[in-house]
Amino acid sequence: MLNRQRLNILPDNPEIDDAERVVGPGRFPSWLHRKLPPGGSLWQTGAILSKNRLHTVCEEAKCPNLLECWSKKTATFLVMGKACTRSCGFCDIGFSKAPPALEADEAIRVADSVLEMGLKHVVITMVARDDLPDGGASHLAAIVQAVRSKAPDATIELLTSDLCGKSEAVDIVLEAQPDIFNHNIETVRELTPRVRHKATYERTLHVLRYAKAGAPQMLVKSGLMVGLGESEEQVQQTLRDLKAAGCDIVTIGQYLQANNRKLRVKAFVPPEQFQKYEKFGYEIGISYMFSGPFVRSSYNANLVLKDAKAIINSK
Ligand code: SF4
Repeated sequence: MLNRQRLNILPDNPEIDDAERVVGPGRFPSWLHRKLPPGGSLWQTGAILSKNRLHTVCEEAKCPNLLECWSKKTATFLVMGKACTRSCGFCDIGFSKAPPALEADEAIRVADSVLEMGLKHVVITMVARDDLPDGGASHLAAIVQAVRSKAPDATIELLTSDLCGKSEAVDIVLEAQPDIFNHNIETVRELTPRVRHKATYERTLHVLRYAKAGAPQMLVKSGLMVGLGESEEQVQQTLRDLKAAGCDIVTIGQYLQANNRKLRVKAFVPPEQFQKYEKFGYEIGISYMFSGPFVRSSYNANLVLKDAKAIINSK
């Protein structure tokens, strides 16, 4: 079963005063306050990434876990540039209709960084590249190949765009045989048109279903944010839909507004509600649930993989 302490998703102060649930503008409730982690390898991680001219979603999406993850020498590579062809309401990554061309040496730079950082589990995500015929699938596959040849023992998780729902593009990614195919549904069906740009709820379910059917041995993962105005029933329905699509692992985390042009936070969801979602996910048969205020798709992804495999293999 999920080890919440190990995965560091318990708030610093589990004793939450009811008064703190009402939060004024610019203030966070106590469960979203965190102690600064010890420095660890923070600067070293940054130096390796900048030497290899790589972007991370940690920085581009202003992830609240950056200090912690980088101190532990983990990061999530953001490949194919830092300009996205979509402009989602929740995401702080820059938008461009015509992003710069792909860089052929990016694969080798990612692989070099994996070695230098000593990563045992590599998480690679991408901007949506709707300008490319295959959505960037072949480039992603080339990166997997380069990482495999330099770090054959590392496990690889790909957090992809919906690749415009093109089966042939998903096939290219599956042929690269990542250990985890991850594609986020991001929010409930009802809020999708407001939260995501171009992507649809159904298309995401199609991509997840297609991936699981094409590679049943591979773990399929998805995630969503809460605090955007969804109801509990809508979240439960999303979990049912993800289960039916073949998801083995589901992550749920608190949405945070990256800047004032992005969607506003409608609710700070308390930790016990995250635990309810987690319990519900297990009840309907999802193999591994990871749900908490600071959870992100790639947060503690190495431990999630290890624990999920242990649970799935014990069944
Ligand atoms: S949770 Fe993921 S995106 Fe956030 S800092 Fe950690 S590795 Fe980066």
